[in-house]
Amino acid sequence: MNKIGLILPGTLLLALILSISSLAQKTGTNHLPIIDVHVHAMKVNPAFSADLCPWFLSNMPGANPNSPAPPFFNTDCAQPLKAAKSDKEFQDSLIATMKRLNMAIIASGDAGIIRNWQKAAAPGRVIPSLSISSSEEMSVVAFTDSLSKGFYKVMGEVAPQYQGFSPSDKSLDGYFAAAEKLNIPVGIHMGTGGNGNININNPKYRASLGNPFLLEDLLARHPKLQVWVMHAGYPMMDEMLALMGANAYVYVDIAGMIWSYPLEEVNSYIKRLVQAGFGKRIMYGTDLMVWPKLLETSIGVIENASYLSFDQKRDILFNNAVRFFQLDESKFK
Ligand SMILES: [Zn+2]
Repeated sequence: MNKIGLILPGTLLLALILSISSLAQKTGTNHLPIIDVHVHAMKVNPAFSADLCPWFLSNMPGANPNSPAPPFFNTDCAQPLKAAKSDKEFQDSLIATMKRLNMAIIASGDAGIIRNWQKAAAPGRVIPSLSISSSEEMSVVAFTDSLSKGFYKVMGEVAPQYQGFSPSDKSLDGYFAAAEKLNIPVGIHMGTGGNGNININNPKYRASLGNPFLLEDLLARHPKLQVWVMHAGYPMMDEMLALMGANAYVYVDIAGMIWSYPLEEVNSYIKRLVQAGFGKRIMYGTDLMVWPKLLETSIGVIENASYLSFDQKRDILFNNAVRFFQLDESKFK
């Protein structure tokens, strides 16, 4: 990598951090609220918890099947984001950031971790989401029962793409029918498959199964189902726009892609969605896993987007999620 390549990510990161603090828009005592619709609650495993350079896919390695596999993340930047080393370290940092930035999160994953976060956060700020990606994980009856108990308010992340099948596959239909009946919003992983080497780590994954058009049969079968497309179907922009154009209730989140792909590419994708008229259906999300500072890094992308007006930023960071998840806005003052 050349010298500029080495210096630029750190410089950008620093610029972002500085501008986040200067852009920390306040009303009275509180930061303007932010909702992160895509957080993963997981037990921190120090052995697999690696540091991360944001926009780490800016220079994908030229790999060869007969050479060692390319690394999953890289730390080839001035200031890699540190991975938390324990559940407590991660929770303390997450909750502190949520309080400082007046945030709520939709969190899927380990139920014990989600409960711990709920105890530590302000009431209503950690919204549990039940994930399922294959009928082998749980029966429809057990799933419906779990949703009916009231702990889970959301269904996701649903990621059949990693299992090698379409979200419209009939094996998932009973679960979606339950969510439709119970008025539970659903987040479905479509598009991005990680770090340019998913074929090595997850051979069932198919890029073609991230095509947003694969949602059409599901949406037609369940007209009251509220679906948001996680990762905004990246990089299948044309299909994403066509699907949103044809389906009035489909939203997207920009999680994962917002800190993975080259920053200019990320901005051009978000800009195109807004330019095409869908600024009211884009929701902010990170895909947060083990790097506490990833929240500020990702929020900074929206805060610093010169192509977005103040109102468009507020829609993406807050208003669109309030509308989609039918949250009580008055609880965020
Ligand atoms: Zn995903």
